[in-house]
Amino acid sequence: MEQRRPLRILVTGGAGFLGSHLCSRLVEAGSDVICLDNFFTGHKRNVSNLRDRHNFELLRHDIVNPIFLEVDRIYNLACPASPVHYQYNPVKTIKTSVMGAINVLGLAKRVKARVLQASTSEVYGDPREHPQKESYWGHVNPIGKRSCYDEGKRCAETLFFDYHRQNRVEIKVARIFNTYGPNMDLNDGRVVSNFIVQALQNKPLTIYGAGDQTRSFCYVDDLITGLIALMDSPEELTGPINLGNPTEITVSGLAETIIDLTGSRSSIERLPLPDDDPVQRQPDITAAIRHLGWEASTELQDGLKRTIDYFEAQLHSPASA
Ligand code: NAD
Ligand code: UDP
Repeated sequence: MEQRRPLRILVTGGAGFLGSHLCSRLVEAGSDVICLDNFFTGHKRNVSNLRDRHNFELLRHDIVNPIFLEVDRIYNLACPASPVHYQYNPVKTIKTSVMGAINVLGLAKRVKARVLQASTSEVYGDPREHPQKESYWGHVNPIGKRSCYDEGKRCAETLFFDYHRQNRVEIKVARIFNTYGPNMDLNDGRVVSNFIVQALQNKPLTIYGAGDQTRSFCYVDDLITGLIALMDSPEELTGPINLGNPTEITVSGLAETIIDLTGSRSSIERLPLPDDDPVQRQPDITAAIRHLGWEASTELQDGLKRTIDYFEAQLHSPASA
């Protein structure tokens, strides 16, 4: 009887925060995984646990340039996700989203691969509908400092659906809401990692604005389970589909929780609110529950404790000294 070969899976942005967890999960499941990254915000050390695995390869490549590989599936995660990093070189950010999407879709079309786009809750902008459903078209500033990311991701979604309609490429679009956990960079700049690193060092926690803006934080293990469930779902389920944890908290509430969990002596420092910072954000995950049987199960306190343990180890490692 013919032996079924393992799936060959390309993960772009595979050495980043989410990508490294995804690569680990796929390697464990026995797939042949190619991790592609230009190491802008990702690091080889995030996937060093996979280095000696026979079914793992690491490829330095910039997804702005075309690539030809024989693969069955593509997870397209390449793109800086933290506002600090995506605003560092905004032209490059939008090129990464748009040209990256064209390149992975072109590859998928050529080799008949299924391709999943890591889209974002940022496509809803500063939302006027709460919580956000997939049917909401969003409220996005097209010319602001966040636009390189938001509009890049919106254009990538358009490209995914046009390749699907025009070329019958099998697509999956996940709209990911704020996710946190181990393998975030010490200097990532997003709120959970900033607050934890500041708290562990007894430095003031930097709250932007009044701190009454809200986010809903999903632990990384839950998110990865959702991404894989979407990729493995029946062909007709294209999405877009929200993936996130609906438990909503203010930024001030998050700061208090982290000070509490770390037993820190940190104070609070107020800094200006960045332009176009969304006031509220919470996913409606009815579609994910119905179509994928998926919902996040990790409580914020439990996920934060695991993330605090990770950063504590990072701060004590010789590399960060
Ligand atoms: P990250 O910055 O840790 O990872 C992004 C990875 O992409 C990094 O390894 C980086 O080096 C790589 N990369 C950037 N530009 C590239 C390019 N031109 N070519 C090749 N590689 C490139 O961020 P993350 O949190 O792991 O996010 C991964 C994906 O998920 C991103 O597309 C992001 O937009 C999306 N997303 C993440 C979240 C979240 O909360 N983590 C929320 C919504 C969407
Ligand atoms: N934020 C903050 N202090 C920080 C980093 C972020 O108050 O040190 C706020 C930020 O203004 C936003 C929220 O926390 O309202 C989430 O920011 P993050 O950059 O993590 O992600 P976003 O959802 O804005 O992309």
